[in-house]
Amino acid sequence: MEEAFDIRNNRSGEKDFENALRPLSFQDFNGQAKIVENLKIFVQAARMRGESLDHCLLHGPPGLGKTTLSNIIANELNVGFKVTSGPVLDKPGDLAGLLTGLETNDVLFIDEIHRLSPIVEEYLYSAMEDYRIDIMIDKGPSARSIQLELNPFTLIGATTRSGLLTSPLRARFGINCHFEYYDTKIITQIIKRSAGLLEVGCDEQAAREIAGRSRGTPRIANALLRRVRDFAQVKGNGFIDLAIACYALEALNIDKYGLDEIDNKILTTIIDKFQGGPVGLNTIATALGEDAGTLEEVYEPFLIKEGFMKRTPRGREATELAYRHLGKTRISEQGSLF
Ligand code: ADP
Repeated sequence: MEEAFDIRNNRSGEKDFENALRPLSFQDFNGQAKIVENLKIFVQAARMRGESLDHCLLHGPPGLGKTTLSNIIANELNVGFKVTSGPVLDKPGDLAGLLTGLETNDVLFIDEIHRLSPIVEEYLYSAMEDYRIDIMIDKGPSARSIQLELNPFTLIGATTRSGLLTSPLRARFGINCHFEYYDTKIITQIIKRSAGLLEVGCDEQAAREIAGRSRGTPRIANALLRRVRDFAQVKGNGFIDLAIACYALEALNIDKYGLDEIDNKILTTIIDKFQGGPVGLNTIATALGEDAGTLEEVYEPFLIKEGFMKRTPRGREATELAYRHLGKTRISEQGSLF
């Protein structure tokens, strides 16, 4: 079988490219209008009071701009920005080192915050609440606890799996933002902006075609644009028009609706193994060898938003669109053929 271009996992070597395209102010950040509108107010209020912004939890599928928006918040607050991630902080000492290095009102960004170890998470509670941490030094009989005062700071936690967050941690975030997939119109604007930054010509129709196949995700849109640019350079005259965009997207085997391999596998499983549903989430997860929570929080929202799947009280169902997209026929319809 032809290998699909795995855009979602194609992350190595793309970091610098991603950073170059990252918007740096609210003004450059397209979409997620409600979140941005509210954050603008909270940021302005915090600045007027000279206080740190409340701790923020940003949750939603990968590639939708959580890191980008956190960076923007720090820029707009005009404070320092430090980045780490849940799995990296495995000892309380690592966290203490980071926290004590923060200046007044700085932003500390913890990506994948659902993956913090329970012990580090507990230290975070008092840091978030009272800007203070108690750490144990030494071991055995000379072990003692010392208290460190911290500068006021803002913790921004990002997660793709908010369902895995413990309630005490969740309760400590004053601002809670859920990121949604972007619609094609906004992804088109993002592609045009990125093309401008990359200094490559790209017309409206081509941008719209790439956007339609970007799974509602800016990270995928930018990565596709980068690949299409290569085709335009080598196979065309460097300019991205509809013809070269379609040619490149076909060559890269990108699904017409932007569905990736796992999306297609989910739909195929529901249709082939469970007659199109309804079928319970856990049953689908077991059949796929995937984690039910990841299916629910990372994959399903896009399939539902685009109308490939329905969530019913009796379970998940594949829609007509899913059947058509995969070229499948419903069993009941097959029966009526005879
Ligand atoms: P996440 O942290 O949610 O996984 P990122 O913030 O790393 O996602 O975003 C991935 C890429 O997508 C970034 O390089 C950024 O340039 C781009 N991006 C994300 N959101 C937007 C947006 N709203 N407007 C423009 N570009 C965006």
